[in-house]
Amino acid sequence: MNEELLARAEAVAARAYAPYSNYFVGAVVRARDGRTFEGVNVENAAYPLGVCAEKTALAAAVVAGCRPGDLAEIAITASPCGGCRQWLYEFRLDQVTFRDGNGEPVSYTPADLLPETWDLPA
Ligand SMILES: [Zn+2]
Repeated sequence: MNEELLARAEAVAARAYAPYSNYFVGAVVRARDGRTFEGVNVENAAYPLGVCAEKTALAAAVVAGCRPGDLAEIAITASPCGGCRQWLYEFRLDQVTFRDGNGEPVSYTPADLLPETWDLPA
């Protein structure tokens, strides 16, 4: 549980681009080397084209050179959607923290969030 990272995600959420839903989501991912990367949801007038905060945070980490295994944890202001759970699994984070339906902070592993996860056959 990293409530400090979660508080930062809550601050970042104010920068989301969500003019259609007004549903502002923030995420902050922490790399094992201590660097952090922020993300917000970015909507589009063509609704299905919007991207989630977790994905923009992970993409920012990738742009900075991070790869699966380099990221320790992420905090998100909302429960990750199914697609993001697959992304979180891909990057092998140790911990995913967000607020549950009652507003309480909870932490899980990506495998907890997506059991029997699909993997590309080796
Ligand atoms: Zn998502």
